[in-house]
Parts: sequence; C-alpha cells; structure tokens
Amino acid sequence: MRTAALKFEAVSSEDFEPRAFEVHTDRHLDRIKPLAKLPEEQRFEMQVVASVLPFRVNQYVIDELIDWNRVPEDPIFQLTFPQKGMLAEEDFQRMAALHRAGADKKEIQALANEIRAGLNPHPAGQMQLNLPKVNGEVINGLQHKYRETVLFFPAQGQTCHSYCTFCFRWAQFVGDKELRIASREADSLVAYLRGHPDVTDLLMTGGDPMVMKTSNLKQYLEPLLEDDLAHVQTVRIGTKALTFWPYRFVTDPDADELLDLLARLVQAGKHVALMAHFNHWREMDTDICHEAIRRIRATGAQIRSQGPLIAHINDNADDWARMWREQVRLGIIPYYMFVERDTGAKCYFEVPLARAWKIYRDAMQQVSGLARTARGPSMSAGPGKVEIQGVSEINGQKVFVLRFIQGRNPDWVQRPFFARYDEEATWLNDLKPAFGEEKFFFEDEYRAMTGRIS
Ligand SMILES: *Cc1c(COP(=O)(O)O)cnc(C)c1O
Ligand code: SF4
Repeated sequence: MRTAALKFEAVSSEDFEPRAFEVHTDRHLDRIKPLAKLPEEQRFEMQVVASVLPFRVNQYVIDELIDWNRVPEDPIFQLTFPQKGMLAEEDFQRMAALHRAGADKKEIQALANEIRAGLNPHPAGQMQLNLPKVNGEVINGLQHKYRETVLFFPAQGQTCHSYCTFCFRWAQFVGDKELRIASREADSLVAYLRGHPDVTDLLMTGGDPMVMKTSNLKQYLEPLLEDDLAHVQTVRIGTKALTFWPYRFVTDPDADELLDLLARLVQAGKHVALMAHFNHWREMDTDICHEAIRRIRATGAQIRSQGPLIAHINDNADDWARMWREQVRLGIIPYYMFVERDTGAKCYFEVPLARAWKIYRDAMQQVSGLARTARGPSMSAGPGKVEIQGVSEINGQKVFVLRFIQGRNPDWVQRPFFARYDEEATWLNDLKPAFGEEKFFFEDEYRAMTGRIS
C-alpha cells in the first residue's frame, strides 16, 4: 500500500520520455556512430585494448555525457572507452599483432587471459580473505571484513550499465568464473545476518545492484523489514546508475516499485543510503540525473558520493571542488575520495599519493564545510582503509601522516601513524615507516591475522 509519505510520486516525471536501454560492447565498436569520425588507427587501438579489458557503453552515455568535440581528452570518454595506454606497450603490441594477422577468437582469448593474469585481478586479498561461513560452509557473495559492515554481491548484479575503464572489479566482467565473487542466495545472506547481531550495516555492491530488476532487489531487501533483522540499521547500495542510467529511477517500468521499496525501508526505521559512484561533475549535468536524484531523496533515502581519483579523468582540484559543490547543491553528501587500486590498467590511471593529497587539499580549500564531509584520499588496502591525512615535517624528516578510517582490527582506527615521504609512492605497500622504524604498528598483527604483509 502506498502512503502519503511517498512524495516521489507527488511531482510527476512525465516530462521525461522512457528510454530503451541500448548497449554496445567490443564486438560492435563499429555501431557506435561518433567513433566513425575518429582516425582509423585510434579505432584499431580501442579494439585491441577492448579484447583484454572489459568494454561496455550505453547510448545515453554516448549521446548525453561525452562531449565528442573534446575526444580523446573528454573525461567521460576516458571513463568508458579503452585507450592505448591502458595496456603495457609490450602487451599492446603482442595483441595488436594478433589482430593484424587476423587471429581467431581462441588465440586472442588465450593471450587476453595471459595479459589479464598479470594485472593483479584481485587486489587486497579479496578472494582469499573475508569469506564468511554459515554452518561451516563458505557463502559466496558475502564479505565481512569490518566488524559492523557486511558486503554483499548479489549474483544478478555483477554487471553495470556501462563499464568504467579503471574498474578494480574488471575481473568479474571478463567471464572468468573462478574470479567471480557472487551469490544467488538471498537465504544465506539472511541467515548470516541473523547469526550476527553485531552487524549494523549491510552494503550491497556489484557490479551495480541497480542493474537488477526491482523484483530481484526485493528478495534481498524485504527480509530486512522483519523484526529478526532489526539490528541491521543501515542499508547501503553502491551504484553508478545515476551516471550511467538515471532512467532506472525515473522512467524504467519498475522505477516506481524501486522507489517504493526504498521508501518502505526508510519507513521501517532504516537508514537507507545510495552510495553513488561519481568521478566528475559532468556525470550529474543532465536533467534526467537531477530528476533521479530528486525522486530518490523524496523516498527519505540519502545519497552519498564516492569515487576514485583517476589520471586522465579527474586529477585536478577544480573538478573535484566543482563536483562536490554541485553534489551539495543537489542534496548529495560527499563521502569518500579513493586512491585508485593496484589493479588493471593502473599504470595509466595512477596518481602518486603525494599528488593525490595535494589535489584533495586544494579542492577542500575551495568548498564550504558542507562539502568537506568527503574523506580521503583513502586506500582500500588489505589491513583497512588508510587515509593520507597530510604531509608534514617532524624532527627534520618529511613524512606522510596516515590514519585508518577502517581497520581489520577496530582498535587501529583513528591512530595517526607515519611513513617516510615518497614522491612516487602510489599505494600503501610502497610506503616505509618513518623515523627508522622497521614496521608499521599494525603489521605483525595483520600478518598473524591473514598471513599477508599488505
Ligand atoms: C569501505 C568498506 C566498507 C564500509 O566502510 P565504511 O567506513 O563504513 O564506509 C565495508 N567493507 C569493505 C570491505 C569496505 O571496503
Ligand atoms: S560502475 Fe563500479 S563496478 Fe561498474 S564498472 Fe564502474 S567502477 Fe566498476
């Protein structure tokens, strides 16, 4: 039953025409009309890279988000279309040679797999660690790394409306079954949550859970309305649909049903948050995106934003400041700036930690307090989320000041610690403790917990 509180219906969305979802992959680059204007060589390069890294883009992104007059520098083009530099030169040349020789699918596949294996497909021990059990059996599709929060990857949500070229989940999209983290089991999710009264947060992620039909989402989310899951107070859903397919919340056939589901969770007393993945202000520059944001907020759900800092896409302070200001204006709460993970086309996208911090700081200095809720730059590493708080000089030594935002051991959280300043370091495992110490304070414990060093 609908109630008066469901305000998203009170203002109509009839100005927006439904749009059919039309998507392109590496098999159909030739169907993407604006590409025809690019040099032949550049189209060939895309084809070569797309045979290794996942490629998928939909017509909304092509028509509304990419400024084709600014290609290849356009940030949304960089976000979605393969670029030559995303592969190491040697890998690129080997794959290009196969394509030029007209090699068959099998040969291309074999080389693609070989190259992928060298790209650290599962960073920070996602596969081996964090796998929870019910009755002694590992449940696929769940990760429980931080005490209060369970991460859930529904099986039908392991894709996205388009793919980001830098995605650290890329291994899930290229069809390697062994690398997939997924679950078909709403039942085991519910059983696990029932057995863990200390879990207050459920974070549903993917791919993008919003590719699922509302009827599927209901299977997972409606049980949270029952009394025996009252301890799960917060429901977060990670999504990039506000960027790649805002119609999901406005004109798709089950959009109203989705908003109704969110509203019911809110009315049951849950904190519901869409964790919207944004990289650039251009992504929220369309009327349909504004309408989607308005409708979601009218359910009582919050929208928080998070996204990585990525070379070629958003590695400058002005774009971040403009994005955060725009988010605040639209009622979105800035949450995280991430450091790009050590996987996939890292060589193309990485930004050294020292520069990342400078960009963060310069952006923060341009915005009001309401946009300063974004924490970062933060590395989601094995031991936890580590934030670069700043660069300082202590007793004549230049250092990074760091802290855990989240830790595998909650006791690590919010303790400042120090690493030797290193202009080139791009990830936690590049850093060395400052002041001549041999190890970071958490290392022994982390090793004992996991058998790993980073
Ligand atoms: C980021 C993250 C969470 C959520 O952490 P918050 O600090 O609550 O945002 C949970 N699990 C994993 C594995 C994460 O990386
Ligand atoms: S939307 Fe998220 S999961 Fe999907 S491709 Fe982009 S970064 Fe990866």
